[in-house]
This record gives sequence, structure tokens and C-alpha cells, in this order.
Amino acid sequence: MKPALRKIALERIQILINSAISNAKMNPDLSQRQASLAQRICTRYKIRVPYELRIVFCKKCKSFIAPGINSKIRLGRASVKSIRISCNLCGHTYRKIIPQ
Ligand SMILES: [Zn+2]
Repeated sequence: MKPALRKIALERIQILINSAISNAKMNPDLSQRQASLAQRICTRYKIRVPYELRIVFCKKCKSFIAPGINSKIRLGRASVKSIRISCNLCGHTYRKIIPQ
């Protein structure tokens, strides 16, 4: 695949995530659709799912969870930089290491 196409796909993914997050409060259905569309683009273009996209999906119930709206994000206190994300929909909490 052409690198240019991959770049365009990545840009679309970023745009979709951003608008999914901003729609999460007012229009949850739309934001859910935009988030799953972003995921489908990743699969279709075989793009490694970007970090921003990985933290906005619950590991357990697979729903789109907008940071601060339907998920809680707390910073870990260990020396390793990490965040803990709790899903408000199913209550699952998971830890993510912040890439340096
Ligand atoms: Zn969940």
C-alpha cells in the first residue's frame, strides 16, 4: 500500500476520534459510530491502532469511552508513568503505560 494512503487514513482516524470525543456528551450514538468507523479504517488499512484510539475503547465491553465523560482517567503514582482508565459503562479498570 502507498504510504500516502496510509497517511490519509491516519488523518481520518484522528479526525474521527476527535469528533467522537467532542460528541460524546451531546450525541453519544454519533460518537459511538464515529469511534467504530475509526476502528474499521484501522483494520481496513492494516494500520496499527494509534494510542489515542486505544485508550478510548474499553478493553472489556469494547464500547467507546470518552475520557472524562464515560471513563475516569487517573494518573498512577509509581515511577513508571501510567494511567488508570475506568469504564463507567461496565466498571472495568485497566492500566496503560504512557509511551515516552
Ligand atoms: Zn467497559
